Amino acid sequence: MTDSIRIKNLIDGEWLVDDNETTVPLYNPSSGAQIGAAPMSSVATVEAAVKSSHAAYAKWREVPIGKRVGYIFAIHTAMQDNLEKLAEAIAIDQAKHISEARGEVQRVIEIMEMACNAPSLLQGETLAHIAPGINGRVTRQPLGVFCGIAPFNFPALVFGWFIPFAIAAGNTFVFKPSMESPLFMQVMGQLMLDTGLPKGVVNIVHGEREVAETWYQMPEVVGVCLVGSSPTAKSIAEACGRVAKKTMLLGGAKNYLVALEDAQIDLLVSNIIQSGYGSAGQRCLASSIIAVVPELYDEVIERVVEAAQKISVGDAMDPDAFMGPVISARAKQRIEACIESGIESGARLVLDGRNPQVPAANKNGYFIGPTIFADVTPCMEIAQTEIFGPVLSIMKINDLDDALDLIRKQPTGNGACLFTQNMYYAEKFMADADVGMVGINVGVCAPHPYMPFGGIKESLVGNNKVQGKEGFDFFTQNKVSTIRVAAPAGQLAADASVDKPAESATGKGGVRSCIAS
Ligand code: NAD
Repeated sequence: MTDSIRIKNLIDGEWLVDDNETTVPLYNPSSGAQIGAAPMSSVATVEAAVKSSHAAYAKWREVPIGKRVGYIFAIHTAMQDNLEKLAEAIAIDQAKHISEARGEVQRVIEIMEMACNAPSLLQGETLAHIAPGINGRVTRQPLGVFCGIAPFNFPALVFGWFIPFAIAAGNTFVFKPSMESPLFMQVMGQLMLDTGLPKGVVNIVHGEREVAETWYQMPEVVGVCLVGSSPTAKSIAEACGRVAKKTMLLGGAKNYLVALEDAQIDLLVSNIIQSGYGSAGQRCLASSIIAVVPELYDEVIERVVEAAQKISVGDAMDPDAFMGPVISARAKQRIEACIESGIESGARLVLDGRNPQVPAANKNGYFIGPTIFADVTPCMEIAQTEIFGPVLSIMKINDLDDALDLIRKQPTGNGACLFTQNMYYAEKFMADADVGMVGINVGVCAPHPYMPFGGIKESLVGNNKVQGKEGFDFFTQNKVSTIRVAAPAGQLAADASVDKPAESATGKGGVRSCIAS
């Protein structure tokens, strides 16, 4: 899979390469080697993708829901059968460690199972007799062509959050992967084609911001969804607001993990390690700030440093490595600049992950080892910006209220975790932590696919969340019908005479005459 990969657009059931399009190089972050190229799609290509999805929508929305779900189930089975191939695609260009890449694919398989509940979850409501002879009905309908954008760090998960829910509901979809990790969708797109999914139901285009700028101009596009950083979410919200397109935009994060005096220390330390260094810290639910009460502060520093020093850093495909590289040379430089900033601001660098030991074959890879700052204070830049790398900041707090106050002051509100054995503190944290997702004695508070996923504040621009029962909300409209049940003319006249006392009971009969007019 690594010999000069040419990433292609999937348009109307065909893999297309336009020789006039410019390309950008694709790298393997584990080695730093160029492994292929991905196209910067032209306006014409992006328009063709939208038009194909628009044409497909007219037929797809008429496909019975059981049959649409049958396609999702077929894609789910294809993913199970090709789990290793899909995981390798993620491990190659995104360089997520292969064991975590398998976990990501497995998670998407479970999300697909959730989306297969569409026939139950998309049922509407009827309220009979809201007025004499009149029923009210809410029908969940598809809307048309949705477009979605993925971040580099979850090329499979974000596909799973958007596409099964959108197409099960009867919409069609144009998907733009990140240019840093497009390979998963090349494999996934082919699996979808192999199931016989009608052409145009899902199209894939590659490129950067310009792809979305074409979408904004096209009336066929009803909505745009994103998982990415908060500045990107805000810029899409602004652009879509101007052209009245729906948006669901999951943004960035700066997550706290809070340890109280009664935390179980072994559980705490292993969860800090998993949360901070899994996926090399490039997760929107990675804990970035470890806030610890004075009773446990020194012990947590000592134990976390000791555990972090044992982490093996290496090639994402090496089964013996725990942590792979970060996504790009640019990300590596940015994270190293954050480490510099921490040092300059007076934080105590208790573990320096710069220039970690890696095998010779990986010497040009983008590696940063586990890094830990202690004595971090809330006004330091490293306590405020999303580092998105394997850097933990340990901060001393007075108590739970202190932690809740710090969390409240963050502009983002994705997740927060608390370690305690005290149910009162746990309940208080669940009630008062100003975030969308909470973990109690859990270091990565990622909700199961049957539950909704999403933050608050700048971590979720708009209201809709992904997956769970709510996963369909963004991709459907609740159309409301008011239905007068037909009756023979004579019956209508009889009804009118029976209605008279009711009119006097409501004073002037205003409510009733309004409904019936
Ligand atoms: P990014 O915002 O740089 O890019 C995300 C995607 O948006 C890419 O496909 C990129 O090409 C595209 N893009 C960039 N600028 C755009 C613009 N102006 N208009 C339209 N599209 C644009 O993010 P990233 O570096 O790829 O991913 C990391 C970020 O994603 C982090 O901030 C992380 O917290 C966030 N993230 C959030 C969640 C969540 O659930 N909230 C999950 C995963 C990642």
